[in-house]
Amino acid sequence: MRIGTVLLSASATAVAAVALLCSGCGPNQPPSHGKVERAFFCCAKCDSLDGGIYGKGPTQSLRTPEAARCRHEWKPVSRDQFKELAHDNFGVDWAKQDPWWSAEGPVRPQ
Ligand SMILES: [Zn+2]
Repeated sequence: MRIGTVLLSASATAVAAVALLCSGCGPNQPPSHGKVERAFFCCAKCDSLDGGIYGKGPTQSLRTPEAARCRHEWKPVSRDQFKELAHDNFGVDWAKQDPWWSAEGPVRPQ
């Protein structure tokens, strides 16, 4: 009984170590972006969305049910495309989100 428990905890440690080593290469990774960057992405494979002002906010991370197993292929999209896709695919009501999302015209991080 005791040996079994030890083996179990040893293998759990091994799994945790692998998960840690592989934290940048698993499925459902966010897009890579600058420390503070205004950018919008759509995954070409599962249609998940990720965008906003990274490092400052607001940001939106919208994931489809497939996202958990997807190694996302993030494609840059425009802010308007992002908002349209989020509304159509995820039912996001932008009027209820941070006012930044509803602002007209080119918006820069403040
Ligand atoms: Zn994806």
